[in-house]
Amino acid sequence: MKQITIAIDGYSSCGKSTLAKALAAKLGYKYVDTGAMYRCITLYLMRCGIVKHHETIDHQKLIEELEHINVTFKFNPALGFSEAYLNDENVEKEIRLMPVSENVSKVSTFKEVRQKMVALQKQMGKSKGVVMEGRDIGTAVFPNAELKLFMTADIEVRVQRRFDELHSKGIMISEEDVKKNLSERDLEDTTRNENPLVKAHDAIDLDNSDLNPQQQLDFVLKLIADMLLIPAE
Ligand code: C5P
Repeated sequence: MKQITIAIDGYSSCGKSTLAKALAAKLGYKYVDTGAMYRCITLYLMRCGIVKHHETIDHQKLIEELEHINVTFKFNPALGFSEAYLNDENVEKEIRLMPVSENVSKVSTFKEVRQKMVALQKQMGKSKGVVMEGRDIGTAVFPNAELKLFMTADIEVRVQRRFDELHSKGIMISEEDVKKNLSERDLEDTTRNENPLVKAHDAIDLDNSDLNPQQQLDFVLKLIADMLLIPAE
């Protein structure tokens, strides 16, 4: 069957990863979580003291450190998806914690960071057969992707999902703090100069406020089936 590129963009915690993982598993495609890549860079810069909460980042130091940062993914068969590695260290859990969430959008505004990540992402998806999710996939990374989705959901729904996800991992945080973090990241992501989060002109809207994971997967599989002229099952 013809392999395509699927680009999924959208706001924080609106179910992009859930959909992207399910699509990749169903189609036998590679799944790339680009948010994890920006989170890895943020973690590295936090560890070396260049990024501190509420403090200005030294641009020159950031540029100097970038060449020492290697971000990769390795498939974990037990989990059924790929985990993020920072310079060969598995950081999958650490990059999801609040300290990284609080700083990642600030780090993601830097042109040099974005150029490095976008180049890597283009390389990862060059053979097609990929589901890539993030903020600028349909606009900057794969502007010619065959299928582009722009995902949204009500802020209250997103807060609840993120709150449940964090608590299920033992990360105890208030709903108020979750909402603050999502709102701050959305604002930074949509207003930055470099590759801001915007809907690509040819992206299809997917508001999943009232859809469960299976319903949204079925919706997208139908789109793909129509596009490739194959039965959706
Ligand atoms: O997807 P996730 O919420 O893990 O992404 C974390 C952050 O990484 C986003 O809030 C955004 O600032 C940044 N990001 C980005 N471009 C992408 C993916 C993520 O700027 N393609």
